[in-house]
Amino acid sequence: MNIVSMLWKNLWGGSRTMLFPARPKVSEGFRGLVRFDPELCTGCAICRFRCTARAIEFRAGKGDFVWSYDPGHCTFCGRCVEGCKAHALSQDSETPPVYLNIGELKNSYTVARKTTVKAPAAPPPADPKPADSSPGGTQ
Ligand code: SF4
Ligand code: SF4
Repeated sequence: MNIVSMLWKNLWGGSRTMLFPARPKVSEGFRGLVRFDPELCTGCAICRFRCTARAIEFRAGKGDFVWSYDPGHCTFCGRCVEGCKAHALSQDSETPPVYLNIGELKNSYTVARKTTVKAPAAPPPADPKPADSSPGGTQ
């Protein structure tokens, strides 16, 4: 495209901005807000360690833990989602909503630690065969 046609397009091509609250379309694979499913979370805290932006906080308690996410710190890199083996994290495929105050989109979950079900005890070993005391039996 030569400079003249580019100028012409920019000058007369119409507005490229959108009026709020309209949002631009996103491409396939777009990484938006991180979503958390407390039902699937095992409380391993790997996401917290993978998040170098400190958008995820994890606080362990007695019998539960608190998982928090602040999109205001998030860079939408997706490392937390990739590292969650329990598939408890996902990312929206649309742009995050506009917010006016710091921490407005922050959310926090208190999740009870899942108790592991004990495997049933193994049956006791069978009694050893009694020695054969009949005449001619082995001793
Ligand atoms: S969201 Fe995933 S990575 Fe984070 S604590 Fe839960 S199970 Fe672990
Ligand atoms: S997408 Fe990246 S910055 Fe956002 S919470 Fe996950 S690891 Fe942190």
